[in-house]
Amino acid sequence: MSKVGIFGGTFDPLHMGHINSMISAAGEYGLDIVRVVPAFQSPFRQPTAGPTPEQRYEMVERGLENYKDILKVDRQEVDRGGVSYTIGTIDHVRAEHKDDELYLIVGMDQFEGFDRWKSFEKILNRSHLIVTSRPGADLPESLQEFPLGLVDLVEDFDGKQALLNTGKSILFFQLEDVDLSATEIRKRFRDKESVHEMVPKAVADYVRENGLYQAVSAKIGDFEKFTEYCIQYLLSKKSIQVRAFDLRDMDFPSEFTIVTSGTSTKQTSAMAQNLIREIKTKYGTYPQHTEGLREGRWVVLDYGATIIHIFYDYVRMEYRLEELWTSGKTMDIRHLEPAAKT
Ligand code: ATP
Repeated sequence: MSKVGIFGGTFDPLHMGHINSMISAAGEYGLDIVRVVPAFQSPFRQPTAGPTPEQRYEMVERGLENYKDILKVDRQEVDRGGVSYTIGTIDHVRAEHKDDELYLIVGMDQFEGFDRWKSFEKILNRSHLIVTSRPGADLPESLQEFPLGLVDLVEDFDGKQALLNTGKSILFFQLEDVDLSATEIRKRFRDKESVHEMVPKAVADYVRENGLYQAVSAKIGDFEKFTEYCIQYLLSKKSIQVRAFDLRDMDFPSEFTIVTSGTSTKQTSAMAQNLIREIKTKYGTYPQHTEGLREGRWVVLDYGATIIHIFYDYVRMEYRLEELWTSGKTMDIRHLEPAAKT
């Protein structure tokens, strides 16, 4: 009987944080192999501008070339297409490893929302779960810190291992943390900063050869015009309290920021989705990163030099974020107001 690890992810791009987690977990728990499964489309992420699933797969393949004896890159989710659910992936691996023990490996940030994963109970019937630390997300010290939906499955928790009534375990593993995220690395590529020792060299070469993580700027071109276009759209959709800041003279990562609000989380989320769709039609690009779209409390759409914050108005008042940008120039947007009907 072998021990088979499964490590899924978007890998946009693969980085040393991922590799550290896979290799360390394999060593700690004596895994014979780890199947590394790039997602076609994660259920928890919006499509963003950037590499295709095939390109992300390719990066993983090249980046793991030196670890081939233990890390096996698995095409199944890319080949299946559609939204990639882990339960389907586990069943697929199970079919090939009928008598083996499966160990799904996730970072602590993923574990925090694990009870929102499709068929999470079935997953925990079929596979053990290894949860690794990740900077910014501490491992749980008591059962109260588990995702609520998991609590009833736990028979015993000794601080390192939870025994489940499914016959499987959740194993918590403190890594020697590598403080990296794909978000930060994409930004470094965009800003042409060094990614030395953050990603395998083969990944860095692939990104440069294929001009990845540059697409948004190339498609948008003039960001001032783009910002005005977004403002105009938001105003025409009765978005409230639209404000915009020109930050070009400031030491900010973006050049323009738009802040606006919706009157409910639902409206905020819908407004952001519509804006994304509108921009995709006009400019042919998705944002390079989004946050909060599902919850609709504070949605961030990152188009590189222009960042759009769409708040549920109540949350906006709570954060008073505008004070951050008032050191920049407030853009005069009166001429962008839709013409009053006479
Ligand atoms: P982003 O920064 O965009 O959130 P990510 O690297 O977290 O990207 P994925 O590629 O989907 O996104 O991550 C795959 C898995 O790797 C997840 O289980 C995640 O928790 C884990 N992971 C990512 N970075 C680290 C890290 N620095 N240390 C440990 N685990 C990590």
